[in-house]
Amino acid sequence: MSLERILVHVCCAPDGAYVLQLLRANYSPTAFFYNPNIHPQEEYVYRRQEMERVAVWLKVPLIEEPPDFDRWFKLTEAYKNEPEKGRRCDLCYAIRLERTAERAAEQKFPLFTTVMSLSPWKKSQVINALGEALGQKYRVNFLQADFKKKNGFLKSVALSRELGLYRQDYCGCQYSLEARQQRKAKQSEAERK
Ligand code: SF4
Repeated sequence: MSLERILVHVCCAPDGAYVLQLLRANYSPTAFFYNPNIHPQEEYVYRRQEMERVAVWLKVPLIEEPPDFDRWFKLTEAYKNEPEKGRRCDLCYAIRLERTAERAAEQKFPLFTTVMSLSPWKKSQVINALGEALGQKYRVNFLQADFKKKNGFLKSVALSRELGLYRQDYCGCQYSLEARQQRKAKQSEAERK
């Protein structure tokens, strides 16, 4: 019996490796790398290359959608001062999920989902509600999930260590990179005192 095809939005290799491995038991996944949020460009290239390594390891097809960085910046600019998990992030999930739903419909996948709910920093309820709404809009079923449950996040950390994958220490966008730099600067200052 052939397994149902599913288009899986992936944002980085550690999350992609764990979730694709999990889904492979019941589905026939194709990974979809669409992340115009990632900044700077070298970071984008590195995360994509690491994802390519995972796709080869799992023997899962990988599609890259060219990132429209300028569009992402324009759409999210009004929320640049929002904290992580705020409204900028909701929009960022929506931008990436919408393109995944569109591509799933274009390529006649019956199902789509995203690995994003694996991260403790991402809001699964918002992601699932967006996925459902976009699934209805593009007439493709959305697989609801909260991959961080059942120790999913810890298992993904262990798997990425085993595979020697690059684990980034900020979410992806310029704003999250700046927040990380500020946190580090404060920490070094506190250590100097
Ligand atoms: S913090 Fe992460 S989810 Fe939020 S806008 Fe930036 S890249 Fe997107």
